[in-house]
Amino acid sequence: MTTRPLLKTVTGEEMSEGAGVRIKRYIGNRQLNLIDPFLLLDEFKSNDVADFIAGFPPHPHRGFETVTYMIKGRSRHKDSTGAEGLLEPGDVQWMTAGRGVVHSEMPEAADGEIWGYQLWVNLPAAQKMIAPRYQDIDSDSIPQVQIPGGRVRVIAGDFQGTEGAAESLTDITYLDVDLAAGTRFSHDLADSQILLVLPVAGELAHGAGDTVLSAGQLATLGEGTGIDLTATAGPARFLLIAGAPIGEPIARGGPFVMNTRQEILQAFDDYQNGRF
Ligand code: FE
Repeated sequence: MTTRPLLKTVTGEEMSEGAGVRIKRYIGNRQLNLIDPFLLLDEFKSNDVADFIAGFPPHPHRGFETVTYMIKGRSRHKDSTGAEGLLEPGDVQWMTAGRGVVHSEMPEAADGEIWGYQLWVNLPAAQKMIAPRYQDIDSDSIPQVQIPGGRVRVIAGDFQGTEGAAESLTDITYLDVDLAAGTRFSHDLADSQILLVLPVAGELAHGAGDTVLSAGQLATLGEGTGIDLTATAGPARFLLIAGAPIGEPIARGGPFVMNTRQEILQAFDDYQNGRF
């Protein structure tokens, strides 16, 4: 087993999205435009209702999947397929936009705070125009694996033989890992997978301990198989996200991600003419 080296750390860039929601963008910013197959990673975290209450009124998506993970607060979604649901703390929504959905994602004010993540996962050409679908995954149905000094929530993929709750079309691994102070986490992942680590609380030492990852910085790890992280300064929590690169051309146009410019123009035309 060779420990994966640290390739790059990306600081989350603060910006405003939707109707005026303050977010931190880790993928899709000036430092990291995308990392195949991941197109975007946003954090929304605030205890000031004014930062998030305007939400994300109706908007379209085509050509990829959005994965929303709520840690605190609630968000109500409604979409053009007639589906509606409430994301509560610990819940995950795995939405396959496929050929197109129009949806709204509106945080609820009652809790006074929000904390969550949205990841965009690209789809290969053969799956970009499939029928849209939702997986609304209750917190209770996400398997938890106890490890010495920690626990791992398996949102997608496999951890020590435990299968994640979400059905991923493209073999994504998505883990939420909590470690007590001093705990070392090691995990093997196929070399072909792109690996991201986002500390969301505390600090993590990488490998032999000379590099420390802190909350607010996304780390990309390079080739190898082993992941070796230790919670050195108190307890730590991190998201581990991995997937295989698709390796196809990417054309982006706002909420649409296709393979060619022509397909993006077609998406705008389809949306404007009510074909979503
Ligand atoms: Fe959306």
